[in-house]
Amino acid sequence: MSFTVAIVGRPNVGKSTFFNRMLEQRKAIVDDISGVTRDRQYGIADWNGKTFNLIDTGGFVPDTEDIFEKEIRKQVRIAIDEADALVFMTDASAGITDLDDAMADLLRRTTKPVFLTVNKVDNNERMLDASEFYILGFEDVFFVSSMTGSGTGELLDALVKLIPEATQTKEDEEIAALPKFAIIGQPNVGKSSLLNALVGQERTIVSDIAGTTRDTIHTHYNMFQKEFVLIDTAGLRKKNKEKDDLEFYSVIRAIKAMDEADVCLLVLDAEKGITAQDVNIFSLAARKGKGIVVLVNKWDLMEKTTNTARDYEKRLKEKIAPFTDVPVIFISAAEKMRIYKAMETALEVYANKTRKIPTSKLNDVMLKAIEAHHAPVVRGNSIKIKYVTQLPTQVPSFAFFTNYPDDIKTPYRNYLENQLRQHFNFSGVPIRIFFRKK
Ligand code: GDP
Ligand code: GDP
Repeated sequence: MSFTVAIVGRPNVGKSTFFNRMLEQRKAIVDDISGVTRDRQYGIADWNGKTFNLIDTGGFVPDTEDIFEKEIRKQVRIAIDEADALVFMTDASAGITDLDDAMADLLRRTTKPVFLTVNKVDNNERMLDASEFYILGFEDVFFVSSMTGSGTGELLDALVKLIPEATQTKEDEEIAALPKFAIIGQPNVGKSSLLNALVGQERTIVSDIAGTTRDTIHTHYNMFQKEFVLIDTAGLRKKNKEKDDLEFYSVIRAIKAMDEADVCLLVLDAEKGITAQDVNIFSLAARKGKGIVVLVNKWDLMEKTTNTARDYEKRLKEKIAPFTDVPVIFISAAEKMRIYKAMETALEVYANKTRKIPTSKLNDVMLKAIEAHHAPVVRGNSIKIKYVTQLPTQVPSFAFFTNYPDDIKTPYRNYLENQLRQHFNFSGVPIRIFFRKK
């Protein structure tokens, strides 16, 4: 389930302060999305056990009068298009400005929920000034101070109320049980070409699945006697968007597709290599616990000698480190080279992600590894790990039971993770390790 909230508002009302507070308090993830002309921010907020994506569509706005208006309109349009709910932020200390009025006009036209949020209400005096904002005519008005955090809890309560509980029909359940792969990547890397190459094969049965979010297209496939669902956003981008927004749109779409997927197929353009943006998307997928396969497309365009692929993979892995146990496949969507291999690998990664290791086997292997290399002594305490078990979670997770759970440091955690990866196949899958008091 993917729910997205966008923050809109003119410059200096406190959007980024608010954004940072939302994420900082909830220990969420912040990713800077570098658009072509401005920086916008994306993160995951978490409130009362419900999570949602938060986007700050603001960022840099040139201060020439006419460009200004245009940029603000664009910002609002992106937010209305992409989000499920909007936070319209204003500033109590400045009162209602012409730009606030102009934005309110645009926002009143959407059917999506708009939460008018009057910021900088740091004290009771400000509260009096702030009441003038009722005049803008929004039903939901919140008075907050992003600086102190006051009022933000009420706003969050109202926001998470909108997140639907997962209810499923029988048909949904059957689809939900199938592996879901998202094809993600920047514009022009060849996502559409890959989809077309797959669809064009007679072994595939294609049917569009209705009822999924409007921003992603789900297609049901049957290949290698296996059923799976491909989630793509490729076709959607060719709407009438302005060029410099293409990249930002593609990032938001990628994140939505990612939320719905078990395994992400991150498509790159071989000639361009992996960009900083791709690395952001890659680490976000890893933190969200998604399986990952990297597809280096347009391999037909590369001049190749004996070690080209090997060297390429090595350089790529340096950039995605520390999570490098990830399959990298060199494909050409145009020449239909290794596109089946790509899908087979995605199915393998899915199998790795859903693998449950029997406890006895896990203990046999891991206790030996622990015996061979003990955790270092901390403050004179010798650390003993007695038992390990896999937890019944979506992302493969392992609990190690020990006398001093807080004294085990990252290097030893990494050692345990590497041992798990060496003995059991978790290629393409982030794994989580917990230490618990025995
Ligand atoms: P943005 O341009 O909308 O992203 O605004 P910023 O988050 O950069 O904030 C603009 C200015 O307002 C900064 O100087 C902030 O410190 C200040 N500010 C933000 N929130 C509050 C608040 O709740 N109270 C007060 N007094 N100042 C705030
Ligand atoms: P998308 O924006 O990621 O969906 O990318 P497209 O599928 O629209 O492809 C962008 C451009 O790259 C098009 O001109 C394609 O013909 C070209 N292209 C896609 N895949 C390949 C490939 O494997 N080899 C070559 N040489 N060109 C490709």
